[in-house]
Amino acid sequence: MTPQPQSPTRPSPKIPVAILGATGSVGQRFVSLLADHPWFEITALMASERSAGRTYAEATRWLQASPLPPAVAAMPVAAAGPDVEPRLVFSALDASVAGPLESDLARRGHLVVTNTRNHRLDADVALLVPEVNAHHLELTRRRLCDGGAIVANPNCSTIGLVMALAPLAQAFGIDQVNVVTLQAISGAGYPGVASLEIMDNVIPFISGEEEKMESESRKVLGSLGDDGLIFADLTVSAQCNRVSVVDGHLECVSVSLRRPASAADIRAAWDDFRGEPQHFELPSAPRRPIHYVDGDTWPQPRLHRDTERGMAVVVGRLRPCPILDHKFVLLVHNTLRGAAGGAILCAELAVAKGLLGESG
Ligand code: NAP
Repeated sequence: MTPQPQSPTRPSPKIPVAILGATGSVGQRFVSLLADHPWFEITALMASERSAGRTYAEATRWLQASPLPPAVAAMPVAAAGPDVEPRLVFSALDASVAGPLESDLARRGHLVVTNTRNHRLDADVALLVPEVNAHHLELTRRRLCDGGAIVANPNCSTIGLVMALAPLAQAFGIDQVNVVTLQAISGAGYPGVASLEIMDNVIPFISGEEEKMESESRKVLGSLGDDGLIFADLTVSAQCNRVSVVDGHLECVSVSLRRPASAADIRAAWDDFRGEPQHFELPSAPRRPIHYVDGDTWPQPRLHRDTERGMAVVVGRLRPCPILDHKFVLLVHNTLRGAAGGAILCAELAVAKGLLGESG
C-alpha cells in the first residue's frame, strides 16, 4: 500500500531563526523565502563588521526581483559571532569565516544549517539533500544528544546532480558518471565575476568546484552504518564552466549503470521518485522533485529554472551514450534549490523528524 502523505503539525508559535551572511546573494534568498514562512520567523540577521550596526535595508544591496520585506528592512544587522539567540541558525557566510564560527555555534547547542563548504565532508555532519538521504539525519540526531550539530547543504551543482542520480542509483546502481556543467554567475556571490570577463565569454574553471562535485556526490549517495557514513562506490568526473547566465546551473551528464535499463525504465524511475519532503508535505518541498521535459532544446535556464518555485530539478534530452550507457541534461536553480531553498528544506525536515524538540 502506498504510504499516505503526513503533514507534521505546524509549529506554534513559529520557530525563531537567525541568518548569518544575511546581506549576501544567498542570504537575500533566505530573507525572501523566510519572510513569509509558515514555520520559521527571522529574529536575527548577521553579516560582517561592515554591515553591523546598520538596518538590513541600509546594509544590503537588494538584488531580488521581489521587494525587500518591510519587516526585515528595518531590522538591525549584527556582526556574526557566537552570541546568537535562536537555536536554529542558517549560514550563508563567506567560506573564509564560516568554519570556526559554525563549529562554535554547534558546540553551544545550535542546529546550524549551512550552505558553506567548510564542514560538508566532516564525518559527523549530514550532507543533506532531503529527498535523497533523509536517513543521514541520524548523524545529526546522535550529535544533538550532546548539544548542537551542523547540517550542510551540498554544493549547488552537486544538489542537482544527486537529485537526478538518486532514482537511478536506487533502481539500477551507478558505476560511473561524467558531468560537464554550465554554471550561472550568481553562483559566484555578489559582485561575483566581472562583467568584462563573463560577457561574450565562457570561463572553463571554477575554483574547487570539480573536486566538490566528485567527493560530495559520493557522500550524499553513500550509506549510513553503525560506524558512520560509507561513501558510495562510484566514480564521478566533473568539468565545471562559468557561463553568462544569471541563475540556473545546466549540467550535461553521462552515466553507466550496474544493471541494464531502457530509456523508459529511467523515465519511470525519475517520474516515480519521491522522498520524505513529499511524504511529510513540507512547506518548501516540490510536489515532484524531478520534472522531465520533452523538447529537443530543453531544459533551459531562463525557461525552466523556476519550476516548482525553483525547488525541482528539470531533466531532459535522455539518449544513449556511445561511451557510457545513457546521457541527459539537467537544470538546477543554484540559489534556490542549490542554496537557500535547499537549506530551508533541510531545516523543515529536521523539524518534521522531531530533531529540534518541542520548542525549536
Ligand atoms: P556573498 O554574496 O559574497 O555573501 C557573503 C556573506 O558573508 C555576506 O553577508 C557578507 O557580509 C558575509 N561576510 C563576508 N565576510 C565576512 C566576515 N569577515 N565576517 C562575517 N560575515 C562576512 O556570497 P554568497 O554567494 O551569498 O555565498 C554565501 C555562502 O554560500 C558561500 O560560502 C558560498 O560558497 C555558499 N554557496 C553559494 C551559492 C550560490 O549560488 N551563490 C550556492 C551554494 C553555496 P557583508 O555584506 O557584511 O560583507
